[in-house]
Amino acid sequence: RIVYVNGGFLPEASASLSIFDRGVLFADAVYEVTAVIDGGLVDFDAHQRRLRRSLAELGIDFDPEEAGLLDIHRELIHRNDLREGLVYLQISRGVADRSFLQPTNAQPSVILFTQAQSLLDTPAAESGLSIITQPDKRWHRRDIKTTQLLYPSMMKTLADERGAHDVWMVEGGHVTEGSSSNAHIITADGSLVTRPISQDILHGITRAAVLDYTRETGAGVVERAFTVAEAQGAREAFITSATAFVTPVTAIDGVPIGDGHPGPATRRIRAHYIDHSRSRLQY
Ligand code: PLP
Repeated sequence: RIVYVNGGFLPEASASLSIFDRGVLFADAVYEVTAVIDGGLVDFDAHQRRLRRSLAELGIDFDPEEAGLLDIHRELIHRNDLREGLVYLQISRGVADRSFLQPTNAQPSVILFTQAQSLLDTPAAESGLSIITQPDKRWHRRDIKTTQLLYPSMMKTLADERGAHDVWMVEGGHVTEGSSSNAHIITADGSLVTRPISQDILHGITRAAVLDYTRETGAGVVERAFTVAEAQGAREAFITSATAFVTPVTAIDGVPIGDGHPGPATRRIRAHYIDHSRSRLQY
């Protein structure tokens, strides 16, 4: 693979980052993952807007537009001949002697790489995901997309050890989100119920696109928190993320959702999301 580090494209084996990088020592870094299908980027501008917001919230002085990130994405897709998969982008505060006090004059480090991966035809889209629930023990600024991912990574691993696909995290009796996705249910009246955006969850780009579409179709969208019991009794449940798109959830803590198979609303939303994304890919 050809990757990008601080201004240069080079083979991954030659790429390096300082051991004093704030991203390495403090997870003082933000990231974005943008899906690639048919060799084009999905919703690139929305990811860049969220990146700008994450950087501003942490006070990392870096201008994504000035840095020409779109061109770097394009170049990486081209050099790696990527048709389907993702581009990962990470920006840290930069390199400084180890200190809890944030440096004021560090030069942000920028790394990007591609990962080839099937996104459109995945087993989970057909069979659905089995989810377990766990307490949400992350910090309370989940709206900032930082690389501080230890807890969600532990939870994903726990799910795997228990024969499930993923975790939905729960706080104060309500579902927050998945380890790396937003959580949604379809209630008996056909409404999409999803937690409102706040500092409790990441403001998913896919979530926003799906809510826009669902509102356009005239189906109800209710932004409110829901409990695990309500999700278990829902007609359908699904997750959204840049790389999972819209993926059905068919069991929560061993309780089948609906008839235990992906439901029609989820299938329709997924198909529409993919069609809509395809019609506006950025090359
Ligand atoms: N929530 C969390 C914790 C995530 O890590 C992610 C994405 O990776 C999402 C939600 C979904 O966000 P997006 O649709 O922008 O990928």
